[in-house]
Amino acid sequence: MDREELKRAVGAAIDARRLQIIDVGEAIMSEPELGFKEVKTAARVCAVFDEAGLEYRDGLAVTGVRAVLEGARPGPTVALLGELDAVVVPEHERADPDTGAAHACGHNAQIAGLCGAALGLVDASVARHLAGTIVLFAVPAEEYVEIDYRLGLVREGRTTFLGGKPELLELGLFDDVDMTVMIHTRSADEVDGQYGVACSSNGFLAKNVRFLGRASHAGVAPEGGANALYAAQLALSAINAQRETFRDEDCVRVHPIITHGGDLVNVIPAEVRLETYVRARSSEAMLDAAAKVDRALKGAALAMGCQVEIDTVPGFLPLRNDPGLAGVFRENAARFFDAAQYRDYPHSGGSTDAGDLSHVMPVLHPVMTGARGTVHSADWHIADPEAGYVAPAKTLATMAIDLLADDAAGARRILDASPPLMSRAAYLDQQKAIFRTELYDGAI
Ligand SMILES: [Zn+2]
Ligand SMILES: [Zn+2]
Repeated sequence: MDREELKRAVGAAIDARRLQIIDVGEAIMSEPELGFKEVKTAARVCAVFDEAGLEYRDGLAVTGVRAVLEGARPGPTVALLGELDAVVVPEHERADPDTGAAHACGHNAQIAGLCGAALGLVDASVARHLAGTIVLFAVPAEEYVEIDYRLGLVREGRTTFLGGKPELLELGLFDDVDMTVMIHTRSADEVDGQYGVACSSNGFLAKNVRFLGRASHAGVAPEGGANALYAAQLALSAINAQRETFRDEDCVRVHPIITHGGDLVNVIPAEVRLETYVRARSSEAMLDAAAKVDRALKGAALAMGCQVEIDTVPGFLPLRNDPGLAGVFRENAARFFDAAQYRDYPHSGGSTDAGDLSHVMPVLHPVMTGARGTVHSADWHIADPEAGYVAPAKTLATMAIDLLADDAAGARRILDASPPLMSRAAYLDQQKAIFRTELYDGAI
């Protein structure tokens, strides 16, 4: 069979599973789980892989599931990814009432697409016409939430990193993978066009900050206290005053929140906690902005005679979408959308741990508009099951065919054109070096 016949066969096989694929997406929408806790979602993936007769491993980086579909001849390995986790939006009508988790980023559609691609590739017996390997990988914890919980996992030795893909890289579960493709659904209300690829997106690191002052009766003896809330307030002002020093082209985003502002109103606050991300387009700009944030935090502690403890943890690296893979996506996705609706999107201020993968191999993280509403908000939903669930399944499967058919000429061309930005060992060393706890004493 030539490539076009293989694609037609896999398309027909996915059409035959259409209702099952939509059911998987909707069932996960109704049972959202947060990162590193996606137990029921992972079980659904296992059930599909069992049904397809695929060999797989589960419990990877706590909840990841990885199946392997071997081609007939040796060749490169292409990973197709779906993200398992939800985000916290308690007011969403399909949120988990206990955790507030909701699929308001469309990762349920990613898993439906991954499962659909797996079923279609197996049903159509595509692998015997391919050179190389397809890895079907449901991955945990893309949303960078519950930082305290995840730092607990790190302290307990259950994980090394706070995000799913960095953790899977640490565990060597991408060591045999040469390139990675995933598809993120987006809201038709929020993006121009119907499908497309952003050239890049921001990376970030995260800071957990504790200002430590001295408690004292706020009415009787305020002069005996050191006000940690005022120190935090000064720190926010000092961070805001740095903004004019950030270059437009670096796309820096610093957005702190106060997570604990004091204990009792008649006690001078002795402990106030902040969290922030520091995002930027390049690692250099991110580290530069992070140093300014540290300076602002310490200056505020000094002004108020407080201590400040700054816990810095790695987030995600900037994403660089591979232009060769983008071309393969554009061609295959044009079967389901009006070609005039394709867009090359500009750099995005958001972040994803697909960025980490994109530093060590060619990666594609494109979008299709199957959803409506506002991302990470209560009105988000998959409005078009065809564009949301079925088109990603077919596009993932047909991209794998384009990459690995004809003795994997497509994949080999991309690997020749796109050497990795860094080795996997250098990536892991760089990210581990970001972990740092610093205590600055402004009380002396
Ligand atoms: Zn999200
Ligand atoms: Zn997302």
